[in-house]
Amino acid sequence: MNNKLLAIGTMAFDEIITPTMESGKVLGGAATYIGLAASYADAEIGVVSVIGADFPEKYLNLLTSRGIDVSGVERVTDGKSFYWKGKYYDNMNKRDTLDTQLNVLAAFNPTVPKRFLDASVVMLGNLDPNVQHKVLDQLTPNKDRIVLLDTMNFWMDSQLAPLKNVIKQVDVITINDEEAIQLSGESNLVTAAKTIHNMGPKYVIIKKGEHGALLFYKDHPFYAPALPLEQVIDPTGAGDSFAGGLSGYLATQQEVSAEVLKEGILRGTAAASLCVGAMGTKGLEVSDKEAFLQQLKKLNRLRTIA
Ligand code: AMP
Repeated sequence: MNNKLLAIGTMAFDEIITPTMESGKVLGGAATYIGLAASYADAEIGVVSVIGADFPEKYLNLLTSRGIDVSGVERVTDGKSFYWKGKYYDNMNKRDTLDTQLNVLAAFNPTVPKRFLDASVVMLGNLDPNVQHKVLDQLTPNKDRIVLLDTMNFWMDSQLAPLKNVIKQVDVITINDEEAIQLSGESNLVTAAKTIHNMGPKYVIIKKGEHGALLFYKDHPFYAPALPLEQVIDPTGAGDSFAGGLSGYLATQQEVSAEVLKEGILRGTAAASLCVGAMGTKGLEVSDKEAFLQQLKKLNRLRTIA
């Protein structure tokens, strides 16, 4: 492993409505959350994404200030950035997408910066599976490489065949419970995990929001609870933060085993807990490495009474 994480995903304008707040247009996107969350690990991180003329430079500077290489972020000077609007209900467990505008994502042809072509860890964050595929095609061979993939129902509905094609090539898939059911066509999570495992990934991680995450590997599922929180302000980006915390950690390891993955899941869970404590990316923006390590400590203490 060479300590390099290549992350791809959307960089976006989001509008989020919760039962008590409306965000207005704020910074969002899978790659943004992944990058910020991964930056708690001491890995070299490069992001590949696409933005329009409207995307403020200060958002790119935010990523740069966390040590993230943004040379793989293409700006389309006559286009608009990806836009997503979502609304949460009552206890924040249910979310509806109100609007998705692909804009510059629709014609995106990604270019992986030279420095990250040999990355040992590749996090294919949520975006068009055809773009995920084009990124994999550019990489130079690396026998130790671990490829992770995250996706959502939007791409299952619109690009199922290309999505299944990419899934064949990945080692780890992170997916939420509803999406696992949709992708597999099963009605039970254990059988869903088996079916998805048969599609390619050796490790299947099913996220269950406030109920934690399950890792399916061989016949022994591993369960990592989420950190019980007094207040969830906005769950947007929790899944991407989980992916960032996990993949950033994997990039710092000598090799990836089930044990390393379990620790990575705890790191992903810790990052997600910081994300949901504030609106949009703010929870990650205001939390430094110390805050991240505190969450990790709390997670490790969950099973003891002191
Ligand atoms: P999460 O809450 O982890 O599912 O991620 C929410 C983020 O995903 C938001 O910041 C959105 O900009 C982004 N997003 C929403 N829909 C899509 C989509 N279809 N493809 C890629 N990213 C998306």
